[in-house]
Amino acid sequence: MTENEKRPGAPKSRAGQNLTALIMNHYAMLHDAAKDKQFVVWASISVPTEIFKGFENVIVAIPENHAAMSAAKNAGVPLAQQAEAIGFSMDLCSYARIDLGTELGDPKASPAGGLPRPDLLVSDTNNCSLLIKWFDIYHRLWGVPHFVIDVPFCYEEQKETDREWIVGQLRELVTLVGSMTGQAFNPDKVKKALARTNEALVHWKAFLALAAHRPSPITAFDTFAHMAPFVVSRGEKQTALHYKMLLGEARARIDAGDYPVQNERYRLLWDNIAPWHQLRAMKARLAASGANLVHATYTSCIGTVEGGYAHYPYDGRDPLLYMARVQNFSVCPYGLRLRFKAMAEIIGHVGIDGVVFASNRSCKVYSIMQMDLQRLIEEKHGIPTILIDVDHADVRKYDEESVFLRIEALIERIDQNRGPGARPYRC
Ligand code: SF4
Repeated sequence: MTENEKRPGAPKSRAGQNLTALIMNHYAMLHDAAKDKQFVVWASISVPTEIFKGFENVIVAIPENHAAMSAAKNAGVPLAQQAEAIGFSMDLCSYARIDLGTELGDPKASPAGGLPRPDLLVSDTNNCSLLIKWFDIYHRLWGVPHFVIDVPFCYEEQKETDREWIVGQLRELVTLVGSMTGQAFNPDKVKKALARTNEALVHWKAFLALAAHRPSPITAFDTFAHMAPFVVSRGEKQTALHYKMLLGEARARIDAGDYPVQNERYRLLWDNIAPWHQLRAMKARLAASGANLVHATYTSCIGTVEGGYAHYPYDGRDPLLYMARVQNFSVCPYGLRLRFKAMAEIIGHVGIDGVVFASNRSCKVYSIMQMDLQRLIEEKHGIPTILIDVDHADVRKYDEESVFLRIEALIERIDQNRGPGARPYRC
């Protein structure tokens, strides 16, 4: 067994242990707080949840995180099957099926026992229209209000009219939560939460930037796992501390010469949502071959706007204006130009030998345009690419051997580009 093959089974780092504790505590907190009759919001991943910090005793659950965690813990398929047994199609996004299966089936199959019932649903068109329909099911079944934040598609820098449109909706959301909880909104608390998010993102972006080091001290798999605190506990002190610890550990690995892929020969970029059910297996199989997914568009966009690479910082001023401005962080609403820009920035900052476009059976909105992007990346950057079939949370729609056959072909093309002296690649 090579050094590279030992790495994936290595004991958890301190940041890894902290991540586990943070997520377990988060789900335990949700259930405890709901028992205490606190106000429960279910929000989609793009909702700027710091806004709820302007109220007391409002807790936020993110169904997409619950679905991703379930898939990573091999509970995705049994939960999705519960939704399919009720009649939901297998063609629906696996996040939706996992969540609907949990809530409308038996929640005991969930690693977190499901989520406490919401008092309010808040979704965001930054994701997709499917998500809005998914939340609407609970709205109809349980009679819970569903607030939809409408974010315009993003083809260029955000227009002031678009920003004002979003700010107006955030004001309406504040009014709604205020009327439902009987509380006055405190914008200073939101400013404080945004300052903590800002601190967390400074560490996060510094952590991601370490991928430029050769060999990289990080993998995209690390970024997939460690994006969770940003998703479930934004605006909290513990989140900023977590990313500080994560960054410190990665820097220490460089000092110690201890890398996740010790003999790194192929530096790859991943485009799409994480393959949650394959994190360990894919990391191990790539590492055994000297290949490392050093970056992912999915996690690189956090803290940025409009396909940029740099952190878009909070200026300490109007919190609603800032939250509206950073709605343009997410890849899904981008047109082709911004998607290409985001990838080109990563390639320029980090150094990439090949791109793995993961065509996601669930997330059509992320997967659209990937063939055009392949052509552009190959033409303009001379970097080989492949398109593989995955589903981010449903392992039944993933075939490891056919995926690695294509990865092998990608690496052969990287070797060809390098010339005859390159060492052969074996999966
Ligand atoms: S289809 Fe994509 S954007 Fe929509 S809910 Fe599923 S993962 Fe999210």
